[in-house]
Amino acid sequence: MIILMRLGASAEQIEAVCAVIRDHGADPLVLPGEDRTAVGIPASLNADQRANLEAAIGALEGVSKVTQTSRPYKLASREFHPEPTIIRVKNVAIGPGTFVVMGGPCSVESEEQFAEAAQQVKAAGATVLRGGAFKPRTSPYAFQGLAEEGLKIIKKIGDETGLVTISEVMSGDLVPLVAKYVDILQIGARSMQNFPLLIEAGKSGKPVFLKRGPSASIDEFLLAAEYVLSQGNPNVILCERGVMPIDRGYTRNTLDLAAVPVLKEYTHLPVIVDPSHGTGVARYVEPMAKAAVVAGADGLMVEMHPNPKVALSDGSQALTPPQFERLMGEVKRLADFVGLRS
Ligand code: PEP
Ligand code: MN
Repeated sequence: MIILMRLGASAEQIEAVCAVIRDHGADPLVLPGEDRTAVGIPASLNADQRANLEAAIGALEGVSKVTQTSRPYKLASREFHPEPTIIRVKNVAIGPGTFVVMGGPCSVESEEQFAEAAQQVKAAGATVLRGGAFKPRTSPYAFQGLAEEGLKIIKKIGDETGLVTISEVMSGDLVPLVAKYVDILQIGARSMQNFPLLIEAGKSGKPVFLKRGPSASIDEFLLAAEYVLSQGNPNVILCERGVMPIDRGYTRNTLDLAAVPVLKEYTHLPVIVDPSHGTGVARYVEPMAKAAVVAGADGLMVEMHPNPKVALSDGSQALTPPQFERLMGEVKRLADFVGLRS
């Protein structure tokens, strides 16, 4: 439920609304807006509670409108927070009005490999450097990542290049370690509903890059974001990275680009598209990256490798440095065309 106060409603009137909400056993959340204040109740209420509250609050002075939110998420919703969220990490803004590209290898493999990738990412004009140190691999026998050694490499190369860094954290107890070395915490698709991890990432206060689970609905995705937001961390970036495909013979996942305008309608959080995991095939990455710009995404996450043929993970979807550079050029042209600064 969201209570929109009238223009110029007094602090006493806002407090009176909060008091009624408390009397009904719920916690109010005051949301000061540019010219009007809203009061939300970030918890689900049963039908009786809702009806009683609506009647009690509707009669109070200073109240303009009481809206029942049918969506199960609150803090992530546009109703709660009509202004789009722009997340600033160092010198990079993520959100409407700019177009951010996060590039880099699937995994950090060595300092040489990561340093080379970083130079290429930077030279092509991208501003965020990605690379996994803890890798969620389907097989326990596949390369699992360099763990803390990889994080140290990310930190060093990030400092040297000035690029903002992002890397995945797979469990709640590893949040402090990963947060010590990187600028943005990535929560992988397989971990989207690892609730203890979402809570720890929320508590860390670091920007959180949340990937959509391969079979997660939009509501499940936004409820996962809600876990992070409900810890008092407003810096959540959503990432569409493809959902379970009907046919794995051609692409690894089905990139759900329709999720971009849908998310933009229902949430204020920035939306990034990952066409690399979304297709699994390097030659399909550029067309889907371009489609993502036009669909209204706020940026891209793209895997590139100095030499994809020898990559220790996801080589078949990694762009070569010239392919990445070309993609950047194309994306920039399109971003200019649709009126974004890249
Ligand atoms: C990754 O970004 O390398 C990754 C493992 O992605 P996802 O969680 O989307 O599969
Ligand atoms: Mn990968």
